Amino acid sequence: MSASRTPALVEVRGVAQRYGRGDKRFTAVENINLSIREGEFVALLGPSGCGKSTLLRIITGLNAPSEGTVLYRGAPLRGVNPKATIVFQTFALFPWLTVEENVAVALQARGVAIEPAHARAVELIDLVGLDGFEQAYPRELSGGMRQKVGIARALAVDPELLCLDEPFSALDVLSAETLRGEVLELWTGGQLQIRAVLMVSHNIEEAVFMADRIVVMDKGPGRIMAEVAVNLPHPRDRKSDAFAALVNRVYALLMGQTQPEEIEFGTEPGQAGVTRALPLAPVTALAGLLEHANATPYERDEIAQLREDLGLDLDHLLPLIEAAELLGFARVESGALILTPLGEAFAEASILARKEIFATRLRRLPFFRWMLRMLRAAGDQALRWEVLLTALERDFPPEEAERQLDIASEWGRYAELFAYDDTEGVFFLESQAAAAPAGAEER
Ligand code: ADP
Ligand code: MG
Repeated sequence: MSASRTPALVEVRGVAQRYGRGDKRFTAVENINLSIREGEFVALLGPSGCGKSTLLRIITGLNAPSEGTVLYRGAPLRGVNPKATIVFQTFALFPWLTVEENVAVALQARGVAIEPAHARAVELIDLVGLDGFEQAYPRELSGGMRQKVGIARALAVDPELLCLDEPFSALDVLSAETLRGEVLELWTGGQLQIRAVLMVSHNIEEAVFMADRIVVMDKGPGRIMAEVAVNLPHPRDRKSDAFAALVNRVYALLMGQTQPEEIEFGTEPGQAGVTRALPLAPVTALAGLLEHANATPYERDEIAQLREDLGLDLDHLLPLIEAAELLGFARVESGALILTPLGEAFAEASILARKEIFATRLRRLPFFRWMLRMLRAAGDQALRWEVLLTALERDFPPEEAERQLDIASEWGRYAELFAYDDTEGVFFLESQAAAAPAGAEER
């Protein structure tokens, strides 16, 4: 569909969303400018937490943005947009209602009488390919079928703007692929009022397969980083060179390019400046990535391949790559992951040597310098979990602070920079841990 000259259905202008108050206030998305034209299928891609769902809520009017405006057909949006609807990852169906009733209630809620509501429900159920399941209950359906009921229910309101928030990610591979095809058919079939689709995805191939345009977001704070037009006719051939080239281009954008260290490292928690969040990368998964990349040299544009080999989705792969970069084990160049000599050394090292390499790298990170300094300064060189958590909550929203401390704890314990007593909930310096029992007896 050529959408370049059609009018804008949605225009997002200078939008920011801040959550929380006072000290805890933080910016989820900032400086968002985006238009969605009639006839367009737009995909939103970006790391977990970059504000994709927030943006959908703002565009559909479920959230009023802290700054900026959303125009719908040229008029500022106030309150929930009745012409828009969101399909979520897992749709909450009423378990005590049949498929038909689950769809019909959406219509009845909008004032449609029972009979026409049921008649329309039956049409919609047919449209999403659930013909014959009208009288089934949700528990009798597979995940893919339940999601179809969710879509039918969303379509019941005759939306002009259909928003999909990671609609396929709770499904198994096969059902997801089938449903993608069906959603595309619904969209291109022209039987519906839908004027535009905005789909959040964490799957680059899915976005290139379905969308006319891919909007790439980044986090810290959430913002739009780039847009990529997908000018391939449907049905798209995943094996074509043009398809692969686009997938690789989006990968390259998402992985970014390695930045100079001073930007990369950020400042210590509690200091002025940007405290860089640690990527949520478990050590074993990171080691797995490095081992695999070391054993299988990826020459160029092959992060897509790496993702496939490791069987990871983007939400899991991105933090691993980010951690590998942050620790100086790898760098990313135009879509390829290149191990540094240190990364190679780590991949080939013994368990003990790995711990040492890891410790050396962690000591350079402001986050760990801060943690170690806090520990050294504490009376018995020990600190309770909550103390560190509270300190971190000045830099991160509460849930993120918790995740940060979890990952810092995992990394630090692996590197034996400090130890943690699970029962007491106390961090203490590793030297202290090793010296105390034995040393006490000798002297
Ligand atoms: P995504 O969908 O890209 O994963 P979200 O839009 O869900 O990202 O969230 C963006 C950021 O805003 C995250 O850090 C998240 O924790 C935070 N956030 C989302 N909703 C709220 C809320 N209601 N209150 C406070 N923080 C929120
Ligand atoms: Mg989300």
